[in-house]
Amino acid sequence: MHEKTLAEQSKALAAGEISSVELTQHYLGRIETLDPQFNSYITVTGDQALEAARQADARRAAGDFNALTGIPLAHKDLFCTEGVRTSCGSKILDNFIAPYESTVTANFRDAGAIMLGKTNMDEFAMGSSNENSFYGAVKNPWDIKAIPGGSSGGSAACIAAQLAAGATGTDTGGSIRQPASMCGITGIKPTYGRVSRWGMIAYASSLDQAGPMTRTAEDAAMMLNVMAGFDPKDSTCINKEVPDYTADLDKPLDGLKIGLPKEFFAEGLDSGVEQVVRDAIREYEKLGATIKEVSLPNAALSLPAYYVIAPAEASTNLSRFDGVRFGYRCENPKNLEDLYKRSRSEGFGEEVQRRILVGTYALSSGYYDAYYRKAQQIRRLVREDFTKALSEVDVLMGPNAPTPAFDLGANTKDPVSMYLQDIYTISLNLAGLPGMSVPAGFVNGRPVGLQIIGRDFDEARLLNIGHKFQQVTDWHLQSPTGLTA
Ligand code: GLN
Repeated sequence: MHEKTLAEQSKALAAGEISSVELTQHYLGRIETLDPQFNSYITVTGDQALEAARQADARRAAGDFNALTGIPLAHKDLFCTEGVRTSCGSKILDNFIAPYESTVTANFRDAGAIMLGKTNMDEFAMGSSNENSFYGAVKNPWDIKAIPGGSSGGSAACIAAQLAAGATGTDTGGSIRQPASMCGITGIKPTYGRVSRWGMIAYASSLDQAGPMTRTAEDAAMMLNVMAGFDPKDSTCINKEVPDYTADLDKPLDGLKIGLPKEFFAEGLDSGVEQVVRDAIREYEKLGATIKEVSLPNAALSLPAYYVIAPAEASTNLSRFDGVRFGYRCENPKNLEDLYKRSRSEGFGEEVQRRILVGTYALSSGYYDAYYRKAQQIRRLVREDFTKALSEVDVLMGPNAPTPAFDLGANTKDPVSMYLQDIYTISLNLAGLPGMSVPAGFVNGRPVGLQIIGRDFDEARLLNIGHKFQQVTDWHLQSPTGLTA
């Protein structure tokens, strides 16, 4: 059953070939047997999942259902889920039981989808390798010596290992696309404002955006249908009609104009990754697309701008974790200041503390203009580069990351080398644009994805472009060997 895509499972449920209870039980069994080697789940909500599956089967029997009713999914552990631990990968929230449900997970729950559990992630979504989790690193199902990518590494690994057919992720600077690329799955980061952030634990509020992670573009379209939409509880959520993302998946690509940003193919790109990406682009030419070189002259400034803006916003967002109201509290505080200091130093991991320090510094008076304001100005330039490039072509294509998944531990000593992982992904977040990764090949047995970048609200187009590729290639259908359960 786990070999089936989400769309195929939906059909099997509709035809009565399987029940949601059977499907859910099957996944719970696989998680129990296989996940200890990957560590992709932090919490498995088995009893709750089976109860929800029974209800979903009853809904189907009563004729009250949609495509996702009864489908088991996994949620990144930064979506608040009522009554269930929501840790954000951090010791500081290890004991936090969310008192309410995020809009995204509520949308899935209301559609009748089943939550199998909460997936592992870099602490507070800060990281590119999933090695920053309080719950330990996630292993890449294609090669357990390799990182799965981050910060949605748990969601990516659980899809690759077929421990769920669909999962939610979030992308602040690449955290859906980069792990999707490294685990050989499909992931889309929607336009900023397309999906509600309400109930998502905030990292950098002007950049965070949730999206689906699945095996196929069709599955991602089905999940996005449920995730996207206006939410009055998120003031940056856009009130714009949600199309049926599955409607145009088969549209021919004749005449599609693809731009290749020359800065994405410059020094620093692994030659194997470049080969995979160029081969994928040739496939698009066969499908009727034309290719043009474009330029994003300020792309190189994205990384330093992001690593000022994201930590600045994080330092503000994370000030609420103070040991007083919820989460971890140190033992025997001497006074209030000691309580704040020790709860935060003991509760937050090293990378999170580093970002809080950088962010607080960048926002402090005297440095604000030199760092934060300057970074915001660069952000505008980056957005203008994309607007210009996307006026010449329909979409942009390139790599998601400079290398395939690297070995666990290879970059942990050097934060800057880790930050360089984000070089091709974060400019999109600064600009607010949608981006997607589709599986496109392998380098030394480790998966590599193709990144596709669109204009504002072009999710349907991106999914169409991803789907057409998946009809002529089978990278997305390959699975790691040796997974039996
Ligand atoms: N790797 C980036 C960071 O550490 C992006 C993370 C993300 O998208 N959540 O900030």
